[in-house]
Amino acid sequence: MFWVRDIETLLPEKLKELQVSLLDKTVKQAIKSPFYHKKLGEQGLTGISSLEDVNSLPFTEKEDLRSAFPYGFLCTELKEAVRLHSSSGTTGNPTVIFHTRKDIDEWANLIARCMYMTGATESDVFQNMMGYGLFTGGLGFHYGAEKLGMLTIPIGPGNSKRQIWFMKEFNVSVVHILPSYALRLQSLLREMGLDRKRDLPHLRIAYVGAEPHSEAMRKKIEKSLDVKAYNSYGLSEMCGPGVAFECEEQNGLHLWEDSFYMEIIDPETGKVLPEGEEGELVLTTLNREAMPLIRYRTRDLTRIMPGACPCGRTHRRIERIKGRSDDMLIINGVNVFPIQVERVLMGIPGIGTNYVIEVKKDKFMDKLYLKVEVDNKAFKGTLRDMEILEERVTEELKAELSVTPKVKLVESASLPVTEGKAVRVYDLRNT
Ligand SMILES: [Zn+2]
Repeated sequence: MFWVRDIETLLPEKLKELQVSLLDKTVKQAIKSPFYHKKLGEQGLTGISSLEDVNSLPFTEKEDLRSAFPYGFLCTELKEAVRLHSSSGTTGNPTVIFHTRKDIDEWANLIARCMYMTGATESDVFQNMMGYGLFTGGLGFHYGAEKLGMLTIPIGPGNSKRQIWFMKEFNVSVVHILPSYALRLQSLLREMGLDRKRDLPHLRIAYVGAEPHSEAMRKKIEKSLDVKAYNSYGLSEMCGPGVAFECEEQNGLHLWEDSFYMEIIDPETGKVLPEGEEGELVLTTLNREAMPLIRYRTRDLTRIMPGACPCGRTHRRIERIKGRSDDMLIINGVNVFPIQVERVLMGIPGIGTNYVIEVKKDKFMDKLYLKVEVDNKAFKGTLRDMEILEERVTEELKAELSVTPKVKLVESASLPVTEGKAVRVYDLRNT
C-alpha cells in the first residue's frame, strides 16, 4: 500500500541527492524572510551544495520564532499565504506558522500518505476527534483524510455521547484520538450500555498522537478497543502531524525524508550524533514556501533506528519519542522522564489508566509523589492486597528510575480527567 511508491521507496542515494537540491532551494527561499535574511545573509550564505554544508547552518529555536513575531519568518508576500497556525504560549508571544496553498496541499498529501500506509482507504469512514482551530491536529488530519477520499466526520473533541453515537450510526472504521481519551472510550461505551463488537463492528484503526505515550499504553489501547493503534508524530513548526508515522510493522515511525531533513544532536553540545544514538531531533523543512525552517530544535528526544523496514519504504525510522528535553524532571540529580513512569505503570496488572506525578521539596530534598488509579474491574483484592500492589509499584518504579517514589493508590475514576491533552506532571518545587 504505497500512496506514492516512487518517493516512498526511493533508493537512499537518490533520496540524499533529492535532499541536497531541496535543501539548497530551502535556504534560498528562507533568505527571503527578514529573520533568515539577517541570520544567514550575515554569513554570506546563498545556498548549499552538499549535506555536509548543513552542519555550518545555525540552529533555529522556538525562542527565535517568538522574537520574530508576528511576520519575521514569512518568506512570501502576504497575499500568497492562506493560513496560519499557532501554538499556545504560556508566556510571551505565541509561535506562528504560515502556509501557502501549496504548503497546505503538500501537508494534506503527507497525511494521506501516512493513513494509506496503515491500510486506510477511500471506503473507510473517518472520525476526527482532535481539536480543530489553531492547533494543527484537527485540520491536518481533516485535509489528509479528504485527500485520501475517506468520508470524514469533523466532530472535534469532547461530548463523548455524541462521539459514540456518530461512530455507531455511521459505521466509523478509523478514528484520530488522544491516547488518554482512547483509554477512556471503552468504559464510556460500557456506561452507555453498548458493546464494542456488537455496536461498533467496523472500528479497526486508531491514530494516536499529540501526547507522548509509551508502547505499553499503545498495547492497552489496542486491547481495550480491539483496534490497531498507530503512533503519529509531528509538530506545528514543521506543519503539524504527518512528519513521521508508523507503518503496518508498528516498529518505529518513518520520517518523510523527502519533506524533512533530520539530524540527531547532543542537546548539550549541539554536535550531530552518529546514526543510532539517542539525542534531540533537529528538522529542516524541504518544500515549504511560506515559512521554511532551518535546523529547528524540536526538543524531542529519540534516535534513528538502524536497518531497513520490511515494508519496503526507504525513509528512515525514528523510535517512539522518549520525551521532550523540556519535560525531563531532575530529581536529586537523577534524570526522570514521565513516560518512564507510564511504561512501568501500564505493565502492572490491576493498575488503571490515569495517574498524577508530583515533585515537591521535603527538607531540601526532592521527593517524587505518585497517585495512581487502580482498575476496579481487574483488582478485587483486600486491603492487604492493595498494600502489596502499592509495594510492587514502588519497587518497579525504583528499579526503572533509580529514584524511590512515594506511591499512593487511589480509586478508579477519582483523578481529574481533562478534555484536551492530559496533564499528569506537577512540579511544585518552586511554589
Ligand atoms: Zn515500514
